[in-house]
Amino acid sequence: MSAFNGNRRVPLPVNEPVKSYAPGTAERTELKSRLASMAGERIEIPIVIGGKEFRSGKIAQAVMPHDHTHVLADWHMATPEMIQQAVTASAEARKEWSSWSWGDRAAVFLKAAELLTTTHRQTLNAATMLGQSKTAFQAEIDAACELIDFWRFNPYYAEQLYDQQPISDHTMWNQLDYRGLEGFVYAVTPFNFTSIAGNLPTAPALMGNSVIWKPAATAIVSAWYIFKLLEEAGLPPGVINFVPGDAVMVSDALLSHKDLAGVHFTGSTNVFNSMWKTIGANMSSFRSYPRIVGETGGKDFIVAHASADVDALAVAIARGGFEFQGQKCSAASRVYIPESIWPQVKERVVGIMQQLRVGDPTDFRNFMGAVIDNRAFKKISDYVEHGRANATIVHGGVAKGDTGYFIEPTLIETRDPSYKLLCEEIFGPVVTVHVYRDSEFEEMLRTVDRTSPYALTGAIFSQDRSAVRTAMSLLRDSAGNFYINDKPTGAVVGQQPFGGARGSGTNDKAGSQLNLVRWVSARSVKETFSPPHDFRYPFMGEA
Ligand code: NAD
Repeated sequence: MSAFNGNRRVPLPVNEPVKSYAPGTAERTELKSRLASMAGERIEIPIVIGGKEFRSGKIAQAVMPHDHTHVLADWHMATPEMIQQAVTASAEARKEWSSWSWGDRAAVFLKAAELLTTTHRQTLNAATMLGQSKTAFQAEIDAACELIDFWRFNPYYAEQLYDQQPISDHTMWNQLDYRGLEGFVYAVTPFNFTSIAGNLPTAPALMGNSVIWKPAATAIVSAWYIFKLLEEAGLPPGVINFVPGDAVMVSDALLSHKDLAGVHFTGSTNVFNSMWKTIGANMSSFRSYPRIVGETGGKDFIVAHASADVDALAVAIARGGFEFQGQKCSAASRVYIPESIWPQVKERVVGIMQQLRVGDPTDFRNFMGAVIDNRAFKKISDYVEHGRANATIVHGGVAKGDTGYFIEPTLIETRDPSYKLLCEEIFGPVVTVHVYRDSEFEEMLRTVDRTSPYALTGAIFSQDRSAVRTAMSLLRDSAGNFYINDKPTGAVVGQQPFGGARGSGTNDKAGSQLNLVRWVSARSVKETFSPPHDFRYPFMGEA
């Protein structure tokens, strides 16, 4: 119980400044020291249910993608009995948590943000660099800044949502009670963003829900450090239950449970589709209609107009396509360039690619690390070989998997605008270019809209406003995040709410009020101060 009078206001959020890690900076020294200590450890990661640690004895290993014999952690996989225990623990925790004032809940995540800003920053950055092979900069913008932003902006958006109340007059008071959902929310997180791993369980928790969190096996180390941080920030036991394990087993158990109240997913389109089907097949067993939120795959485009700034375009292709080895849902992977500027663009992009070093991200000179695991390495290599056989490799094309899963940044050119590599998500450092006739700009835009099932991010490069307007219009449904003269990656919480439609997800815009509204079930309350005491209406009087 807590007593408090006053309409609380959370601190006004501002985006966490990105540290540079340039030589000589304090943050560089701190990060290098944490990288060295973490690389020297081999930790054990348990399952945590209702605040208690469980060790199933069924153990899997977490390795470094860039040095895949180096084991960072042994982690325990949840058993079917533990999944049931997690449901019970979340129901127990929900009773108290959902009755906390929203300000008390918000304080837990504001404290988590502060811990991450200060004492925990380099632990989460180092875990993301070693476990997911991100460079210092890619880790900083993700594991530190974006997650801090989620934890500071979501309480602010919650406050704004709770502020929305209905009208009343002197005879009655109407109110909206934004309840959490009845049951548990199942959060399933991807490997590629530590910030998303932190946001998917905590956004529903902030709104008064209890959560069962299944992290990705390939990002288990950073997920574990997030969980420990949340405990330190004061998250009560059982509000978020940490259940790593076999994805199909965990999902099958939870997606058919009567108390499933929602799914908060980010990952591939196929997996989301299969989860939706399982939910559909179990419709008659649920107490409530589960809220299904999923942000999924992308086939993100850059379209250049003949008026494009060639240098800016080349940098956008290189950064947008190859940062974090192209493993961003927003990564530029299909590029359409008019023939009049292609020779200059090609020269500039290849010139940049020749300078992109690939290797161990703890060597700060590297621009790229390894791709996440052997499965991704094989899949991406197959796409590169397809390009070699059916199109032209302009630059790159070498894959080496003996010590780490390294794939060179690769630029492929095709004449066929519906070529496989222009349509399917590759999720690796492969950019495919199609060169079109300058006079066919509008037709090209129509083709871009048609040739992929996704609609996540996209960009137009043009100095000509009317070309920008045409692209904005013809590509209106082709991307949930649209960029003008900028790369299609790097959305910032509070600035570019993120998400896409079509095969890219439910577009519930992580880190915004649009997302939080999915985790509440509003109750309308009408209180009448002077109820009628006569059943008859005036019109019923005799003429
Ligand atoms: P993934 O689909 O392989 O895995 C995501 C999560 O689902 C993991 O926790 C995984 O263990 C779990 N999972 C795997 N198979 C499952 C199954 N059969 N049933 C239930 N759960 C299952 O995705 P990933 O490789 O971790 O991430 C990359 C994908 O995520 C890409 O497609 C990318 O575009 C997408 N992504 C989208 C966004 C976005 O905001 N739209 C953001 C990041 C990543």
